[in-house]
Amino acid sequence: MSSPKRIQPMPAPLVNQIAAGEVVERPASVIKELLENALDAGATRIDIDVEQGGIRRIRIRDNGHGIHRDDLPLALATHATSKIRDIDDLEKVRSLGFRGEALPSIASVSRLSLTSRWHDSEQAWMIRAEHGSEPLIEPAAHAVGTSVEVRDLFFNIPARRKFLRTEKTEFNHLDEVVKRIALSRFDVQISLQHNRRACRQLKVAQNREQQEARLAEVCGQAFIEQAVFTEFAVGEADDGLRLWGWMALPTYSRSQADMQYFYVNGRMVRDKVVSHAVRQAYADVLYHGRHPAYVLFLEMDPAGVDVNAHPGKHEVRFRQSRSVHDFIFRALHKSLAEIRQGDSAAHAVQHFAARPAALATTAAGAYNDTAEGTARRPAYAQQSMSLAAAGRQGVAEHSRAYQQFMQPILSSGEVAKPAAGGTGDDIPPLGHALAQLHGIYILAQNAQGLVLVDMHAAHERITYERLKQAYAEQGIRSQPLLVPETLSVSEKEADFAESHRDMFRQLGFDIDRSGPQTLKIREVPALLANGDVETLLRDVLADLITHGDSQRIHEQINEVLSTMACHGSVRANRKLTVPEMDALLRDMEATERSGQCNHGRPTWIQIGIDELDKMFMRGR
Ligand code: ADP
Ligand code: MG
Repeated sequence: MSSPKRIQPMPAPLVNQIAAGEVVERPASVIKELLENALDAGATRIDIDVEQGGIRRIRIRDNGHGIHRDDLPLALATHATSKIRDIDDLEKVRSLGFRGEALPSIASVSRLSLTSRWHDSEQAWMIRAEHGSEPLIEPAAHAVGTSVEVRDLFFNIPARRKFLRTEKTEFNHLDEVVKRIALSRFDVQISLQHNRRACRQLKVAQNREQQEARLAEVCGQAFIEQAVFTEFAVGEADDGLRLWGWMALPTYSRSQADMQYFYVNGRMVRDKVVSHAVRQAYADVLYHGRHPAYVLFLEMDPAGVDVNAHPGKHEVRFRQSRSVHDFIFRALHKSLAEIRQGDSAAHAVQHFAARPAALATTAAGAYNDTAEGTARRPAYAQQSMSLAAAGRQGVAEHSRAYQQFMQPILSSGEVAKPAAGGTGDDIPPLGHALAQLHGIYILAQNAQGLVLVDMHAAHERITYERLKQAYAEQGIRSQPLLVPETLSVSEKEADFAESHRDMFRQLGFDIDRSGPQTLKIREVPALLANGDVETLLRDVLADLITHGDSQRIHEQINEVLSTMACHGSVRANRKLTVPEMDALLRDMEATERSGQCNHGRPTWIQIGIDELDKMFMRGR
């Protein structure tokens, strides 16, 4: 061990370089800090110009309020800021920056110059950071606003420079930051140029249509085609939370969590509370291991959120994290539940309520007039329709065949909850069945053209939703078996079944233990009475045992119901009559989340007459 050393204060440049270790990792982090400064200065136009992935040079020019000449040295000094004055300001901070660390940190690991003209000044000034001596200030030409130029990042720290990746990788990181910021501020014009080539040109987006154009530019056309606009608000009494933005349909799920943009008061965050709430909202409609895509904005009282939790400021701490979590979960869960018949960007879900517990839908589809024009749909996408229309046409007719077909699923024997209100001669949203194809698909005709339905997937979803409802309301209706069945199981399974009889009752099973390794099944869920009871029970047992104690089971009960729904749904190759098919279509229209099966696959698609015409080159 070397000899002990005495304590010394660190020189300022070293302090800055150490701080830079936290906030400046790569060109992308420089861009983030500079963009945030421009936005904090009230810029409405920002032009970014980078070379070699930003390693060689980054230049950002804004039209914000600029910096006073006398403040220029302070801008580059550690812990100097114009954004907060005391600790109370920090409580309610609205600006993106406030730590006064970014510029000095960046300046300590690059060659930085800053040119600025203060909003009521005639003259612009430039300051250049000099490593080791006082910065230089000289007159310059510049409109009101600021330009910052950062050259040769990490030129003086070879160890960090080594960690930089290829120009292309660094540029991608940088572009991702630009995208995030671009989505957070539709009111700001942003351009990005790389190696003298224009990469992004984002105009100010004032209305929904323009915002969706920016979304398409940033997240891709497919995202916006597969996304719904949603908006929720709760009253002042509950901190005045507001959540709005776009969420992709479950069918647009991704293998990576790479298209998840969540902003809290305009600041992009990656937060555990938030991502858990979103994941839970999608849990019911997404395959395991798939990730939802969304661009969402949470607005709330700044006092309710602590942004000073991380130097990079991408983590936040909610003071009421439980209620924020529940609000986000409920809002998104409800929106997803209301997506039926494949709404897309053309459809908006809007909600206002007095308190989160009672989120109510009002005026669903009220935005259709403005949004309809922005619908850009792939050839075979599901067709949008307003919930109002779907609800109105609802379940207009119910044939006897339908009653027989669906009867066992329902505990009450009553067929459909939504009241029939259609006029009869309207064409229902999913149309009238024409035929069955290969025992798998239903072909139907509606106003737009042809509808194709995957009958197993659709029936599975309907059964699942019914089971959930029945389970929650009074337990699933059971039916005695004519001859009780004996099932041999492991001792562990027998123990489990014995100690959870009530749980099985709730699920529609009546089971007795008849030996160390045998169970006697007396009653089964009515809808499954004709199915393979043994396999079903084995699957349900396996599900329940996997989920462990009964609290966990309670949380995972939907998975159990989903397994049951799968067993109880029409199999491929089952012949359905036209009235049975019509009944299934009507039921889809009345069922929440019927656009996707329990695994997130689509249940139906629309092929418009115009698409058919195109296929046959039939001009009209
Ligand atoms: P912070 O943003 O945390 O205050 P910075 O080091 O990023 O700290 O910036 C220091 C100060 O310089 C800011 O508080 C602000 O007053 C000023 N500043 C930086 N960039 C700009 C800009 N683009 N336009 C106007 N003022 C700026
Ligand atoms: Mg800053």
